[in-house]
Amino acid sequence: MHLPFCAAKCHYCDFFSVASAGQDIDGMLAAILDEARRLAPRDPRTVFLGGGTPSLLSADQLRLFLDGLDQITGFRASAEEVSAECNPESLDRSKAQLLLELGVRRLSIGFQTLSDSMLAEFGRVHSVDDSFRAFDAARAAGVRDLNIDLIYAYPGQTAEQWERDLGRVLALGSEHLSAYNLTFEEETPFKRWLDQGRLDRAGEELELELFEAVRRRALAAGLEAYEISNYARPGHRCMHNVNYWRNGPYLGIGPSAVSRVGPVRRGNVKGISGYTRQMRDRGHAVHWEERLDAPARLGETWWLGLRLAEGVDPQRARQTANFEDGMADPATEIAERLEAQGLLFKHNGRVALTPRGVPLADHVGREFLACSR
Ligand code: SF4
Repeated sequence: MHLPFCAAKCHYCDFFSVASAGQDIDGMLAAILDEARRLAPRDPRTVFLGGGTPSLLSADQLRLFLDGLDQITGFRASAEEVSAECNPESLDRSKAQLLLELGVRRLSIGFQTLSDSMLAEFGRVHSVDDSFRAFDAARAAGVRDLNIDLIYAYPGQTAEQWERDLGRVLALGSEHLSAYNLTFEEETPFKRWLDQGRLDRAGEELELELFEAVRRRALAAGLEAYEISNYARPGHRCMHNVNYWRNGPYLGIGPSAVSRVGPVRRGNVKGISGYTRQMRDRGHAVHWEERLDAPARLGETWWLGLRLAEGVDPQRARQTANFEDGMADPATEIAERLEAQGLLFKHNGRVALTPRGVPLADHVGREFLACSR
């Protein structure tokens, strides 16, 4: 579910979201529920409220929205995992308690960095102290499934700083940690500032050092590195995202949300007024749609699946992609070439990244996208 409102727009973010001041949030929530009423299946296994910053909604808005969603889907009884993205400025103990009461059991808190000056540079509207306060508040409210989001390799960051910050974050004992390398996305202020020379990109060597540091420290703290950028205590992987990395079907609801069911991928219209207008006038929000052929689906299954430590089962990948017996399988050929280069290895019938391949996951994964060409 894509709830597109944030307290302010972060300078590195290319998700579709807008600053909430002056927006018709109630109208948007009604339109999203309308889309859910038309599309959402009964009894979902996982629900993810993202966007956007769902924790920014008022108590009344959250109640109305989540009660409505439960009437439509029955998620409170069926879902094994219900997550919401939260930011420190809008998460206190009563909000966390309310979310739990309304059926949200997993909270993901955007710390991003433990540098106040970098938070300001990122355009975020909370302090480092606010991040720790929000985490403690969620725990005090009784949330037992907490993720912390971090960004690394930002301008000016040093390895020493990162080690210190990781020590403080891991000492909190969250069940899950996501640590993403900063990317300079097109049409963001950060990309513009990079192009103007106002910001420097971290060097590749430093990026690798920071990546290895988070792996090492997360493992030492008892988390498993189940995905390239994601770490969890046993039993606390994000199932919603694991399904996505296994190239399972998913339904996105809300402005700009993307769905992939069977061979069809579709995306919703982005704008706030465009989304509500289209829902009202046409009863759907679809803006674009594409049909993926079997080679494209096979390539994507490998591209996504290799991000997971469990890797890819070639036979399952063929089934997921609806690859018929007898069709030449280009992925196996690519996998063999990468295995010969020491980037992939076979284990129990699955293919996964070697320790040398792990930091090169993006590059290795992209090789498989050639399947569709
Ligand atoms: S809070 Fe999250 S979704 Fe909102 S602008 Fe910042 S990074 Fe983007």
